[in-house]
Amino acid sequence: MNIKFCKRCLYSSYHPLGIVINEDGICSGCKIHEEKDFLDWDQRFNKLEKIVSNYRNKKSENYDCIVPVTGGNDSYFIVHVVKNILGLNPLLVSYNKYFNTPLGIKNLANLRIRFNCDIIQQNVNPHTVKKITRKTLRQFGNIYWPILAGQTVFPVQTAVRFKIPLIIWGAHQGLEQVGMFSHLNEVEMTRRYRKDHDLFNYEANDLILPHDELVKRDLGQYQYPSDSNLRENNVRGIYLGNYIRWDPKQQHEKMIDKYGYLTSSFSRTFDTYDYVDCYNYMNLHDLLKLYKHGYSKVTDHATREIRFGRITREQGLSFVKKYEQNYPEYLDLFNNWLGIDDKGLSLIMDQFRNEKFWKKISHRKWDFNGWSELNNIHNSKKIITDKKIKFSINSEFKYNEKTDHYITVGKGWP
Ligand SMILES: [Zn+2]
Repeated sequence: MNIKFCKRCLYSSYHPLGIVINEDGICSGCKIHEEKDFLDWDQRFNKLEKIVSNYRNKKSENYDCIVPVTGGNDSYFIVHVVKNILGLNPLLVSYNKYFNTPLGIKNLANLRIRFNCDIIQQNVNPHTVKKITRKTLRQFGNIYWPILAGQTVFPVQTAVRFKIPLIIWGAHQGLEQVGMFSHLNEVEMTRRYRKDHDLFNYEANDLILPHDELVKRDLGQYQYPSDSNLRENNVRGIYLGNYIRWDPKQQHEKMIDKYGYLTSSFSRTFDTYDYVDCYNYMNLHDLLKLYKHGYSKVTDHATREIRFGRITREQGLSFVKKYEQNYPEYLDLFNNWLGIDDKGLSLIMDQFRNEKFWKKISHRKWDFNGWSELNNIHNSKKIITDKKIKFSINSEFKYNEKTDHYITVGKGWP
């Protein structure tokens, strides 16, 4: 297997977003991360202020911008910057993912109250969402397509509908993880990146096959507005990460202290801040990532912390080994919701185990040879468990059978 690892972080040449490892053995993500320490961030922030100043509604006839939010990762910080630092009047928009944890619902409610913002939410008919989820799970081993599609399209549809041309996002994943762009490129939201990376190369129309239970009507809410529609309304989406030194750990900690952002432990990673609003992102979705790509979210988290210098590469690898193979939680909840059983789910999932990383030993037994295993080549040092880095936990979202289910925010729909 011709796999190359970055000498500094835990990413390999197999990263699905595409990574370049230079002659010194350092990856493009680590190289671009260095910019965080040498760019003049005051100057970058001034540039941001200049950009948004053109969008201020002086007569207060409309909102100044749209901010996509969830009850989890980075939402508090983005709204904090937009509302309290830039002094804009945002319309918050949120796509209901249906896998909401009670903690995520609380975080979202607290967000709009504490920041005193209007919010609109998109609740796509749950039957349609199930149909699409069933399809994307079977077709390409993904349960998160409708959520990623909804979260990336609803803000854009709202921008066109309400004539609010500016959308403000947090960090750009392609820049943060693999250094696809420099901060100085000031990359903006595009239809192309959404399709290629956010949606795994499947646009809504690509899901429709002849004689299928899924029909065009089901996907109407996931259609990106036409280019002419976007042009007419001058819609653009900017990323705060290009103008602010983006550091999710530090930012979350500020939001915990200042606004009471709730956090929770997870069985598959050490980061307690990121996806606290969802039952499945850090569980079933994360295991599918390991099956398909040979690594999971804990590798993303460890790589990020290594780059910020808060842990060593060895410590990062020890975290990955500690969490990567842990069994996901809340599978029953997902199976009940979708109407499948354990065995059915396993059968579907096994089809997506990538042969590069998984070898079938016997019936239902597989050998793993993913990134963390191969990474031993570069790490002959004894693995140590790190005690220093701290992610605080101020809540838990343990599932309560009597009171909790996947619910539409505020409506209690199962
Ligand atoms: Zn690297």
